[in-house]
Amino acid sequence: MADRPVSSEKDNWLLTVNNLSCGYGEVPVVKDVSFSLGQGDIGCLLGPSGCGKSTILRALAGFLPISTGEIRLESATISLPGRTMTPEKRRIGMVFQDYALFPHLTIADNIGFGLRHQSKADRIQKVAGLLELVHLQDLANQYPHELSGGQQQRVALARALAPEPTLILLDEPFSNLDTDLRRRLSLDVRDILKTLGISAILVTHDQQEAFAMCDQVAVLKDGQVQQWDVPYNLYHEPTNRFVAGFVGQGGFIPGTALGPDTIESELGVIRGNRTYNWSSGTLVDILIRPDDIVHDPESNLRPKVIEKTFAGTSTLYRFKLSEETEFEALFRSHLDFYLGEHVPIRVEAEHLIAFARSH
Ligand code: ADP
Ligand code: MG
Repeated sequence: MADRPVSSEKDNWLLTVNNLSCGYGEVPVVKDVSFSLGQGDIGCLLGPSGCGKSTILRALAGFLPISTGEIRLESATISLPGRTMTPEKRRIGMVFQDYALFPHLTIADNIGFGLRHQSKADRIQKVAGLLELVHLQDLANQYPHELSGGQQQRVALARALAPEPTLILLDEPFSNLDTDLRRRLSLDVRDILKTLGISAILVTHDQQEAFAMCDQVAVLKDGQVQQWDVPYNLYHEPTNRFVAGFVGQGGFIPGTALGPDTIESELGVIRGNRTYNWSSGTLVDILIRPDDIVHDPESNLRPKVIEKTFAGTSTLYRFKLSEETEFEALFRSHLDFYLGEHVPIRVEAEHLIAFARSH
């Protein structure tokens, strides 16, 4: 999955968003956003709070008119400026952060809510199947307040799946849950969607969740897509400084280009597996991720430990080599160094990421 290329030539996209802009009143929020999602794929909108993720979902769901561009679902154009197909006609299901279940309805009735127009027999059979799918068979006659947050979110998912939508939109669905449950439920939901072959778009500000659950991820900033790519590429081939900083851990150290794939820095000469079209002598900022630094007793590079965060199997160190050169390193926790200690290290960064300095 990680290495699957994002095809730009596919013409049977399930969802295509072209040059979408929208906002509230005169205020533009989403600016010129484009991406496409294949049938059965799970896409993600990832970005800091306020960058416009939920606004894009509202436009996809048909709750918000668009001011430029178009949204296509299967073969239909569902949004154009001045023409918005109503939400009910779109066959799009939604799951929200706060579950939004009907408190006075049982779990079974919540799930069957969108099936009111089907025969009772069909409805009962369908609801039973969905209860099983989300592992809540035993709770059919309970009420939402009797369930845990994780269980309520499963109900919300089953309810959204019931009318057999073409696409499911999930807006920060796990944000109210604690870390462990969040991780487990996100993998469960991925399994369920993949089993059914249903396409989905997940909105989150949590990159772990985005990476664990999604096939492709759009990194957003200020209402604009910075990069739409598979998680592996976002991490190893970020297209700009924002993506590099937002995705994964890491920071920048200064350097000078020696050649298309080689940079000199205080951490020595670093050579990576990609080439840049800068000229020699260009001042650059080099992305150093905590796993790019290895402990090497033979090394003459001995930065000082200035911060240390124990995390069980590993420890995250912050090192300082000079005023300009600080970076982090993740070591197995039996490599135990004290604050102020000078530790021999070297860089092992096959995926060299650097950006020409703009100032
Ligand atoms: P995100 O989901 O990424 O956190 P939103 O899409 O909710 O961000 O919001 C993007 C921007 O639009 C924010 O600046 C927010 O204040 C503004 N916004 C959101 N909803 C409304 C609204 N109903 N009316 C006016 N402005 C809004
Ligand atoms: Mg939001």
